[in-house]
Amino acid sequence: MDKNEHQEEITSPKHVYIHIPFCAQKCFYCDFAVFVWQGEDWVDQYLGALEHEISRVLDHQPLPRVETIYIGGGTPSLLNESQLERLFSLLARYFPIRTPNHEISLETNPGTLTPSKLEIIKAGGVNRISIGVQTFHDAILKRIGRNHTAKEAIHAVYMVEKAGFNNINIDLMYGLPGQEMDHLLSDLDQVSQLPLTHLSAYNLKVEENTHFGRWQREGSLLLPGEELEAEMYERIIEKLSSIGLEQYELSNFARPGFRSQHNLGYWLNHRFYGFGAGAWGYLGRERYGNMRALIPYIRHSIKGLPREEILPVTEQEEMEEMMFLGLRLTEGISDSRFRERWNVSMNQIYGVQIEELTNKGLLEKKEDRIRLTPMGRFLSNEVFVAFLQEK
Ligand code: SF4
Repeated sequence: MDKNEHQEEITSPKHVYIHIPFCAQKCFYCDFAVFVWQGEDWVDQYLGALEHEISRVLDHQPLPRVETIYIGGGTPSLLNESQLERLFSLLARYFPIRTPNHEISLETNPGTLTPSKLEIIKAGGVNRISIGVQTFHDAILKRIGRNHTAKEAIHAVYMVEKAGFNNINIDLMYGLPGQEMDHLLSDLDQVSQLPLTHLSAYNLKVEENTHFGRWQREGSLLLPGEELEAEMYERIIEKLSSIGLEQYELSNFARPGFRSQHNLGYWLNHRFYGFGAGAWGYLGRERYGNMRALIPYIRHSIKGLPREEILPVTEQEEMEEMMFLGLRLTEGISDSRFRERWNVSMNQIYGVQIEELTNKGLLEKKEDRIRLTPMGRFLSNEVFVAFLQEK
């Protein structure tokens, strides 16, 4: 990206994130801004607030030309048909200008989709569906607080395919309580039989303010342990690669041509609009976070922008972010990209760190790129920390 493109990228973001915070129940590991479903009335009020927020940001500006819209949650597929129609007419009003290869994703959970909802979702322009599967073992699903079965997850994938979507992601998790290698291997076998173009595989992270956080403090959460988790990660990479899902980011795998364009925008540190309770956005030189709780978000959106946090991003921070977000990508970061943005080579700024991490076997150089080695992928946090500069 040259200077002019960068300027344009800063002033007119091409990515939009919309948060729909409703879920049927809260999974035991979940730390997202989520509101347990208490009737459709709340959703109607929320959609009204979302409209206020979007119009406040965009009403007096030229409409953005968007490359990606990501409708995440929460469980956007919990919305009923008329609420989905309302959401898509809002998007059509504020984001009608879309690039030819635009990507519009919607997150769903098994058990919440119907053929007629999928028809509305398709007519609304969505061309990529993501399904929260996590595992195909009912006992583990129960243990992590999911409210669907493996059979419902498989059914959801085929229902989405039948509705005419040809870009389908599932989320899987590993490192779950009671999960053994055999469970994971049979999950991967099941994956190989499904019509998927993309898969995200996340290891369980225990967050403090969750059921799992509490159970871990009490000593009642039994996890597989780091060693087994590392082996699981390795097997996931091997197996997915053998069925044509190539790793392109630490947790993401895709068939050729099906990388998530929206998430690539994050890893390339592009600006993006974030709308909805608990959503984050990155505009100009600021990252902002919206109010996470539903009622304050709704109230504040009516009066003004529902911001809870505004964090200025200095040039130094942007440079650091470029390094640790870019290194998440399998292809790593090229010196030419770094130079285009900063007018200086990566080596001039980070030569010492690159040398040290290469000597430790965590980074490797290939042509004008640096990227994580397989060991670096396991110890990625150690690598990322090295790129924080002294303030
Ligand atoms: S479905 Fe997703 S967003 Fe909702 S509670 Fe579970 S993990 Fe959180």
